[in-house]
Amino acid sequence: MAESLQDAILIVGGGPSGLAAATALRRLGVPRVIVLEREPMAGGIPRHCGHYPFGLREYGRMMKGPDYARHLVRTAQEAGVEIRTQVTVTDLAPGPAVSVTGPSGPQVLAPRLVLLATGARETSRAARLLGGTKPGGVITTGTLQSMVYLHGQRPFRQPVILGTELVSFSAILTCRHLGIRPAAMIEPNGRTTARWPTALFPRLARVPLLLGTEITAIHGRDRVTSVSVRDTRGSRDIACDGVIVSGAFRPDAAVLQRSHLRIDPASGGPEIDQYGRCSDPDYFAAGNLLRAVETAGWSWREGWRMAQIMAEVLQRPLPDPSEDTITLNGDALAYCVPQRLAGSGGPSPLRGFQLRVNRAVKGTLVMRVDGQITTRKPVETLPERRILLPYPDTRNAGKIDITLDETA
Ligand SMILES: Cc1cc2nc3c(=O)[nH]c(=O)nc-3n(C[C@H](O)[C@H](O)[C@H](O)COP(=O)(O)OP(=O)(O)OC[C@H]3O[C@@H](n4cnc5c(N)ncnc54)[C@H](O)[C@@H]3O)c2cc1C
Repeated sequence: MAESLQDAILIVGGGPSGLAAATALRRLGVPRVIVLEREPMAGGIPRHCGHYPFGLREYGRMMKGPDYARHLVRTAQEAGVEIRTQVTVTDLAPGPAVSVTGPSGPQVLAPRLVLLATGARETSRAARLLGGTKPGGVITTGTLQSMVYLHGQRPFRQPVILGTELVSFSAILTCRHLGIRPAAMIEPNGRTTARWPTALFPRLARVPLLLGTEITAIHGRDRVTSVSVRDTRGSRDIACDGVIVSGAFRPDAAVLQRSHLRIDPASGGPEIDQYGRCSDPDYFAAGNLLRAVETAGWSWREGWRMAQIMAEVLQRPLPDPSEDTITLNGDALAYCVPQRLAGSGGPSPLRGFQLRVNRAVKGTLVMRVDGQITTRKPVETLPERRILLPYPDTRNAGKIDITLDETA
């Protein structure tokens, strides 16, 4: 039987976005806010990021990840948020009805509203289809950091890092913490994904940065012994004892995949409108579950603003949802969040469309509403970088399409 929590808002995921939303909801007077977190402690990914910089946007000071995570938890608890740890959400159903497993066994919870804030994860070696043998020592940055900072382990002495997103530089920092100098940082594109001045960091850390280079195979029996790489000059091997497959984040939408909620195949997260409302209007979503990947500060703010909308929904309904999704034209456009716009343009926790591209592009983004051009925006960008496009300035938006006209 379902436990009735009709006065409560349930939040799935105790990371920056979930905890920010929970704290704000309590401060806005919502009587009961419960955060469900599958780990033994709440705080999300920053719990195992033992480095700076966290907290600048939110608290105006620079913190290491674990301090930031503790601060988030403490602030939420002081606001009266109930945090239930070691509770994994396994299913979502209309009602809303949320199935969980935890220390007191399986349960179904029936709250008033649900916010999904389960974050994002890096793409594993298997999903990247990297060839070769299957030795130990091929891990994501997240796994590296939890091994190092939560369990005090030293997984290798001379790894290579695949990727040049912000998180890849975080992998260099973690290696430095262990006194390790990576054998190389490898990037298939011709430039780093993270912006300058971060791109200078490998040079400062004396890590060779190999741009326009692919890993074609990983070798080793029990442990990694080398990787084969290919660039314009041909193929060669690099000796190493580990591979950090960094970045290429995907929303952690496992629990949605079995649910009735619509998933956007392009972003990998739930399909939402500008209010963060899912295809079932009793469910909302915020943070990196929406689009991989943003910083903790960005996710925190999104959660905070989502709380304003959810608190309002308890008083009066939002405009009717629209069934029209935004159409994207141009093969370089990877996805757009939100995927739908519901009528009148009230405040949105998402502050406009967030777009991503799937390769380096230069051109103009053109937005049309019912065929009429409403916005043009020049862009020159790389994958994983955020592009913001303001919502069209019409109270009753019609069919929206966004086109990327590339310049040669
Ligand atoms: C290795 C690494 C380094 C980073 N370094 C930085 C940095 O230096 N600065 C910065 O600003 N950002 C950094 N980031 C990004 C930052 O961590 C994220 O932007 C932020 O954590 C996103 O917050 P979130 O709440 O959306 O998700 P998360 O922090 O991922 O939190 C989601 C939570 O949901 C829980 N959860 C998931 N599924 C379920 C379920 N079914 N049931 C119950 N609980 C569930 C998870 O256990 C997790 O605690 C880094 C990320 C990584 C991976």
